[in-house]
Amino acid sequence: MANITILDQSTINKIAAGEVIERPAAVVKELIENAIDAGANAITTEIKEGGISFIRVTDNGSGILKADIPIAFLRHSTSKIKTVEDLLSVSSLGFRGEALSSIAAVSQLELVTKTPGEINGVRYIIEGGEEKSIEEIGCPEGTTFIIRNIFYNTPARRKFLKSTVTEAGYISDLIERLAVSHPNVSFKFIVNNQIKLHTSGNNNLKDIIYNVYGRELSANIIEANGKSDHIVMSGFIGKPIISRGNRNYMNYYINGRYIKSGIINKAIEEAYKPYTMTHRYPFTALHFEIDSELIDINVHPTKMEIRFKNGEEIYSIVYHTIKDALAGKELIPEVVLVK
Ligand code: ADP
Ligand code: MG
Repeated sequence: MANITILDQSTINKIAAGEVIERPAAVVKELIENAIDAGANAITTEIKEGGISFIRVTDNGSGILKADIPIAFLRHSTSKIKTVEDLLSVSSLGFRGEALSSIAAVSQLELVTKTPGEINGVRYIIEGGEEKSIEEIGCPEGTTFIIRNIFYNTPARRKFLKSTVTEAGYISDLIERLAVSHPNVSFKFIVNNQIKLHTSGNNNLKDIIYNVYGRELSANIIEANGKSDHIVMSGFIGKPIISRGNRNYMNYYINGRYIKSGIINKAIEEAYKPYTMTHRYPFTALHFEIDSELIDINVHPTKMEIRFKNGEEIYSIVYHTIKDALAGKELIPEVVLVK
């Protein structure tokens, strides 16, 4: 008997799935990004037991054609790019075509979807990567995904999940960031039948910050807008007084995508230096529009890291815009009287 064998397809899929889907929050991220890419302007996410037993994401986007459904669950199937050249100008959040196949490989998945052009919708069930049924049903336009029992067939991964409270916390943080990154989309988040967050989606960033972070924080933010050759920057920064001991409130978005960047962190922190003690980090909710040819987002499967072809330009616009916004401002905190 040979010692070297080729893994069967189901094993290959489960291993690949692990790279994209680490925990329930990763499922929620992929499903919400797909909903945004499908043009939805209202997205409801519901979870039970930290998303481990139940995740439901409902959108009012384009829906998926019946004939496209089985294809959407194949690995490397995407409607968003056709060739490697398209990667340079990708404007959608997804493009790798790995999410649905990965989620389906490690969970029990139910999909209900309807496009505006079709009379009936479709319900599709796939478990552990195996198609169980596809049938026509009546349903509203848009798409609902229900993910049950993530990692039910990969116990080794399930063991690495944290408590339901911690997993729910990751999902909550994620939805807050997504809500701020897409102020034109109304987000609802329901945990164990209780509404935890509901943003208006009225495209007014200050209102969304109020929805997400509350009255106290939104009373202590300053507008920070700037522009350079290839970059438009807009959004809000916190008065130094509301700085924190970690970078959790230091969020920014490039072309609608939440990312992390050492260059941007450094520029923000340098601009705040005269106003904050060391190891205090400000609140930021900043949007950058950058020509997509000047960035490379194809760095990691979770697409959180970005490479800039114009690092100096981004550093300079962030540093100077924040410095100017803070200079000469009344930085005394606004005390909010709770009614
Ligand atoms: P990607 O987002 O990288 O294209 P996915 O595996 O996440 O890959 O999704 C595969 C395809 O399924 C998408 O390209 C899209 O055509 C379709 N799709 C997934 N979710 C939705 C949705 N909520 N509404 C409409 N189409 C969807
Ligand atoms: Mg996707």
